[in-house]
Amino acid sequence: MPPASRKARAARSEATPDSQAAERALRRRAGRIVRALAKEYNAAECALLHDSALQLLVATILSAQCTDRRVNMVTPALFARYPTADDLADADPDELEEMIHSTGFFRNKTRSIMGACQRIRDDFGGEVPDNMDDLLTLPGVARKTANVVLGTWFGKNEGVVVDTHVFRISHRLGLAPRKNTSHTEQRLMALVPRREWTNFSHRVILHGRAVCDARNPKCRECTLESMCPKNGVEPPPGRVRTPGRRRAGRPASA
Ligand code: SF4
Repeated sequence: MPPASRKARAARSEATPDSQAAERALRRRAGRIVRALAKEYNAAECALLHDSALQLLVATILSAQCTDRRVNMVTPALFARYPTADDLADADPDELEEMIHSTGFFRNKTRSIMGACQRIRDDFGGEVPDNMDDLLTLPGVARKTANVVLGTWFGKNEGVVVDTHVFRISHRLGLAPRKNTSHTEQRLMALVPRREWTNFSHRVILHGRAVCDARNPKCRECTLESMCPKNGVEPPPGRVRTPGRRRAGRPASA
């Protein structure tokens, strides 16, 4: 569990009957959202091209502040040039920076990739570790990257990947307040069944790309429309949202 789970336990112990009922209602709505997304994006999977845990780890590091499409343009040549953790650990930093330049933040990413691969080589026998504690010791690897590797490659639901799409849409759907990614992950872990954590994040990411765009969410086309309070979403020009005139069945903001 993320570090603030003690706070969550304390909050639960102070919960009033009303807040417990609200939490149960939110869980039921989250369940409906999970099922609707599963129906809409049945075959959702990680968009980063990879053939191994190491490739997925490196691709995920490169995906920070960059599109998966751009990362996928860079990684085939990168993995051909440096096929193993050992190769990347001893890479020429200038050459590596040049190869990943177009993904942005290339100096930091080069440091992270080389540092992570040196640790994988020196402390983990050249294999990407398959548990959260060890993954978090790798330079440049935080919970988001660790969750991607554990969930997608190792099939372990240890947390929920909270990227920019998951963070934004969780808030719009009223599943988590717009605080920080750690808090959003805790709320999603509380609301979404564990077996769905990895698939749920893949599906929300697809939904963010296809429908719930950051600037222009297509609410009228959205499969989640009837379950979504649209927190923070401006109504389109010409449509003023009037308080108290919510459509029947529309849930209140959580
Ligand atoms: S109804 Fe609108 S805000 Fe809510 S998930 Fe769908 S597109 Fe996003």
